[in-house]
Amino acid sequence: MGSMRIDLHTHSTVSDGTDSPAELVAVAAAAGLDVVALTDHDTTAGWEEATAALPAGLTLVPGAELSCVSEHDPGRGISVHLLGYLFDPAATAIVTEQRRLRVERRERLYAMARGMAADGLPIDADELLSLLPPDSPAGRPHLAQALIRAGLVTTVDQAFAEYLGSGRGYYVPRHDTPVEDAIEMIAAAGGVTVFAHPLARSRGRVVSIETIVKLAEHGLTGIEVDHPNHEKADRELLRDLARQLGLVQTGSSDYHGTNKMIPIGAETTDPEQLEALLDKASGAQIAVG
Ligand code: AMP
Ligand code: FE
Ligand code: FE
Ligand code: ZN
Repeated sequence: MGSMRIDLHTHSTVSDGTDSPAELVAVAAAAGLDVVALTDHDTTAGWEEATAALPAGLTLVPGAELSCVSEHDPGRGISVHLLGYLFDPAATAIVTEQRRLRVERRERLYAMARGMAADGLPIDADELLSLLPPDSPAGRPHLAQALIRAGLVTTVDQAFAEYLGSGRGYYVPRHDTPVEDAIEMIAAAGGVTVFAHPLARSRGRVVSIETIVKLAEHGLTGIEVDHPNHEKADRELLRDLARQLGLVQTGSSDYHGTNKMIPIGAETTDPEQLEALLDKASGAQIAVG
């Protein structure tokens, strides 16, 4: 079992990835993965398609990446992404909050696109929204693609650096879920929670270690230690912290198809750590292909 390859964080076209859920599980199998988790932003809409398309020998861990905010550290709230796994996708609190966030994601993306149009950039906000499936979790990568189509940038990363980042003039914030509420919501629905890329400094401000300790006391199950946006020293720090706090440690690619340059399986999770996650979850089943 030591050779099992496990990637616990990926995105499909259901949110801001570029592979459909069916394509994503095929890509995972082709990359030699044994286990993949589908963790689209603020939706569970891809679970069914991914399960139905599961190639023989591949196991699917159903999940989602929840857009959250932490108010523990001084200053304004810090954006936190929380991976929820194996929760009951029909739990009312989760369904309601995810739907609210998907609506706000569209309004926010529309506002950002309108801001660009107002400055004379060739971006049509109404056209942008009309291209996105109804009730899908619209994200800045979709606006990045519009900027590419308009010839203003050539890559998603350039779009973030010049137009979409939180320090740029077109950025519009969202009202994300308080992270403690999200941890409680997922736990109440039988799921487990992993703090996604907690020290991804390139994304913006990150929480303090004290905040991670508080979230662990609040029922957080694990932390994503190995992530493409984590520096080596931060990985060591997070590994030690997880050991001290008894948190599960994961490693994942955060694959987004061609919206990011990282291949699926670029970072992986130890089988014992996955076992620890599965042992604590009861809200949904893994699917075995
Ligand atoms: P949003 O969900 O609208 O806040 O947009 C953030 C999403 O953009 C995240 O899921 C990231 O995975 C994705 N993304 C792609 N490239 C970048 C980048 N260079 N910087 C920040 N986020 C990025
Ligand atoms: Fe994303
Ligand atoms: Fe994330
Ligand atoms: Zn992600």
